[in-house]
Order: sequence, then C-alpha cells, then structure tokens
Amino acid sequence: MAQPSDKALAALVKKIGARRIDVSQKGRFAASYDSARFSVMPQAVIRPKTNGDIRQTLLLANRHKVPVTVRGGGSAMTGASVPLKGGWVLDLSHWKKARISAKESLAYVQPGVTVEQLDNAAAKQGLFYPPDPSSKKYATIGGSISTNAGGLRGAKYGVTRDYVVALEGFLPTGEFVRWGLPLRKFSSGYNMRDLWVGAEGTLGVITQAVMKLLSRPAMRKTFLCAFKNNAAALKAVGPLRESGADFSILEYIDELSVKCAADFMGRPAFQKYPRSALLLVEVDGSPAQVAAAAKRVQAWANTHARAFATSKSETQAEALWQVRRQCSPAMFYLGDSKLSEDVVLPMAAYEKFVKLIGELEKTTRLPVPVFGHAGDGNFHVHFMYNRASKDERARAEKGVKKLLRGVIDLGGAISGEHGIGVSKSPYFAWQHSPAQVRAQHAVKRALDPQNILNPGKIFEATNVADFEPVRVKMPWDHKPPVPPR
Ligand SMILES: Cc1cc2nc3c(=O)[nH]c(=O)nc-3n(C[C@H](O)[C@H](O)[C@H](O)COP(=O)(O)OP(=O)(O)OC[C@H]3O[C@@H](n4cnc5c(N)ncnc54)[C@H](O)[C@@H]3O)c2cc1C
Repeated sequence: MAQPSDKALAALVKKIGARRIDVSQKGRFAASYDSARFSVMPQAVIRPKTNGDIRQTLLLANRHKVPVTVRGGGSAMTGASVPLKGGWVLDLSHWKKARISAKESLAYVQPGVTVEQLDNAAAKQGLFYPPDPSSKKYATIGGSISTNAGGLRGAKYGVTRDYVVALEGFLPTGEFVRWGLPLRKFSSGYNMRDLWVGAEGTLGVITQAVMKLLSRPAMRKTFLCAFKNNAAALKAVGPLRESGADFSILEYIDELSVKCAADFMGRPAFQKYPRSALLLVEVDGSPAQVAAAAKRVQAWANTHARAFATSKSETQAEALWQVRRQCSPAMFYLGDSKLSEDVVLPMAAYEKFVKLIGELEKTTRLPVPVFGHAGDGNFHVHFMYNRASKDERARAEKGVKKLLRGVIDLGGAISGEHGIGVSKSPYFAWQHSPAQVRAQHAVKRALDPQNILNPGKIFEATNVADFEPVRVKMPWDHKPPVPPR
C-alpha cells in the first residue's frame, strides 16, 4: 500500500481538527514500535476525542486507502501495534473512562483503561478482574482484548476472552456496531464479539467493552516446590491436577531460570537444593477454600517435591514469589538479547517438551531458559544471544523455527497469549491448514474490503529480522543486571 497522500491528511484535519492529529517526529516515532522493537513510521498519530472522530478517520482512510493501526499501551510482543504499512496510528490510550456496576458485577470500560486500573477500580467494590498479564500496568483493555491476553492466573480463571461480555466500536469501514449486550445470556446471530477478541485490531476498533467481574478472593497461600530436574517438575503437574486442589496459579521455573534468579538475588531459593527446577503453586479464595485447597497441595508436595516452602503471610508469599519475578531480568546474564516465544503444549506432551528444549540447547549452542504457566501449558521459551554476534542471532532464529515446528508436531500452539502480529506471521500457516487460513482471510476481506485496518498482520509473512532493531528504553524494561562475581 502506498504512503497516504497529504490530501487525505488535509481532509482529516478539516473533519476532526488539527489538535487531534500529531505529525511531530517525536509523536510519530513513539507510535512506530512496540515490544517487538522494530519501527515503521506512521504519517500521523490520531488521538480522537469522540466516536465521530473515529468514524471520520475510518471513512477517510477507506476513501483514500490509508492504513490505520489502532494502538493502546504499545506493549505487544509481536509487532501487532507497529504501523507496518505506514499510514495513521489511531491512539486510544487516553480513552480512560471506567464504571463499575457492583450490582451487575460488570465493568463498563473504555479501551485505554489499563488492566491494572480496571482491577484496582473493581477492588474498591470488593470485586476482581482476574486476567493479569505481567504487563498489566501498561496493557490496555483494548489491547488485551485484541490479543486475548492471558497471565499467571489462567489455570483457574482463564484468559481475557472469558471476561468479555459485550463490545462496541467500529467496523473497518467506519460503521458503528455493538456485539452483545450487558446481559447474562445472548443467543442471537453469529458471535462477532468473540471474533474481535484476539483479532489484533484487524477486524474493528473497540471503543467500549463490558467486562465480567468476580468476587475478590479474601486471601491466598503460596507454595514454592523444588524438584530434582525439569522433567520431574513437569511430571508432577498431572498428579497436582488429579489431587483436586483448586489452584489459581501454577508456574514452572526451569533449572536454568532458577540459577539465573539465584545469581541475581545472591541466594538460592532452597539452600539444600540450589540446582532445582521449581513449581510455584498458589491457592486463593475464602479462608475455608484456601485451607481445603492448601491441604491437598501440601499432600501432593509431600509426595512429589524434594522440598517445599509455604507462606503464612502476604510478606512471606511475596518472598516466595521473588524467584519467579526475578528470573526474567536475570536471564540477561546469559546474553544481552533474546528471542522469546509463548508456546502452548498439551499436558500429555510435557515430557517430550523438556526433551525438545534440551535438543534445542544442543543444536543452537545457546542457553534456552524456560518459565511459564504450567497450569495451562503456556510456556515462555527464551533463546539468549549476544547482539554483537550475527552468528548467535542466526542460531537463535533457527532455534525459534525448530521450536515452533516441534511444538506443532506435539499437538501444541505457536502462541498462547501474545498472538501472531508480525513476528509469528511466517509460521501462521504452519499452525493452520490452507482451508483454515482461507476461511480466516475471507472474514478479514469481508469486514475490511479495502484492507485498511492493521494491514500486513497475521496473514502476510514478514521476517522481523529484516528490520533494524530500535534502541529505545521502554517503560517495562528492566535495569541490566549486574553479573554475579
Ligand atoms: C514486559 C511484558 C510482559 C508481558 N506479559 C504478558 C503476559 O503475561 N500475558 C500476556 O498475554 N501478554 C503479555 N505481554 C504482551 C502485551 O502486554 C499484551 O499483548 C497486551 O495485551 C497488549 O496490550 P496493549 O494495550 O499494550 O496493546 P497494543 O500493543 O497497543 O496493541 C496490541 C494489539 O491490539 C490492537 N488494539 C489495541 N487497542 C485496540 C482497540 N481499542 N481496538 C482494536 N484493536 C486494538 C493493536 O492494533 C494491536 O494489534 C507482555 C508484554 C510485555 C512488554
């Protein structure tokens, strides 16, 4: 698609006013990248005030064939919010109104409200918004619906999709639509609401969402459990499920990640067993529910773990969490850069997954630390390399391909929560049959005949490595760790 003409922009200025349109170098650059760390400059950043502004933007974009990329917090890991074909970025991060209806257990939210802001607002009324991506401070409701964001609590509470009751917004053509209503039941026509969930801003612009809230759990209890090795830790997941313990969180931290975190913290999680793989288990609910679930987890840990620690207070729970919180920044001991994937495995394939990671470490000759959500099979795999070495980068890229192919062969998925965006677009057709790709593409063409909204994503294979990485500090970047002595 050609870069939009100045004529289109001039027409937009006339319709919505110059104050809503940022053409500064600084403003355009800030909207040109996300956490995939490559940049494509848009012609302008539009910050609409009203639904009417959005409608006008889309109508003009269709008339002049201008690409439009919607943007929330810009924390996508895949390049989903990068304006790949230039054009206009429609920034909705300032759409921040939220209303909690306690009597309905619903939240009425604009797309720029962050996940953390929504949960904080719910908490004031004793309610709970469970999806908790690690990026919750930055990730917006619009962005998290559009990527179907997950998080730590998925094992018990599911993902963003499970909380979307109704959506409203605009079709790519500029027509206003409502998908669903704030009702407990709705069985009338196609479920277009769910089609927008995880669509990565390719099928519509979300301007308002109605989200389901739950009662806030009164308390939590945390268990940190050590295992002889990675295989032993993942083997213990099945028995934990079988135990009937209603856990809210089940995090896996492999031996290499545990070692990095221990170096970072200056102490191992378990003095007696410094070389362990870990499972972090959390139960939550009323005191009675927590007591019942904790009893089961304890019995399971006694049988399966080589050692375990439990929390008796919030402070102790946080202390147990440190190893999980630190393993991500600490892995930069292993290389100054990483390629990360968020694959999903069926539980039956956990053992083979451990073997696959071992093989990848051998063939790439790179460290490959893994942690993630063992309760729902969603693992974050990191190929660590040094930016200065082209050879290491090439080996990391080969490793990613082998990983994704291996995961598909094991019956898994190439993404559990980050989506396809640009970085996984070369592998989209690995996951889906030609008929499945055609059907999805047909939906895109039907709703967006001019291919205006977020073009180039999902279906068009683009190699992110062809772009020069941007050197920017993002709000969620960790300080580089000091290497252990
Ligand atoms: C440090 C870090 C940790 C992370 N941890 C997690 C995690 O634990 N779990 C997880 O799931 N993800 C995680 N992510 C990924 C990311 O935070 C999520 O994908 C998040 O949901 C994106 O929200 P955002 O507001 O930043 O969206 P953006 O990056 O702005 O946009 C993401 C996509 O949504 C579209 N979009 C945004 N707003 C709208 C709208 N109003 N209407 C239509 N389309 C829209 C965009 O076009 C784009 O395709 C993490 C990212 C980082 C940087």
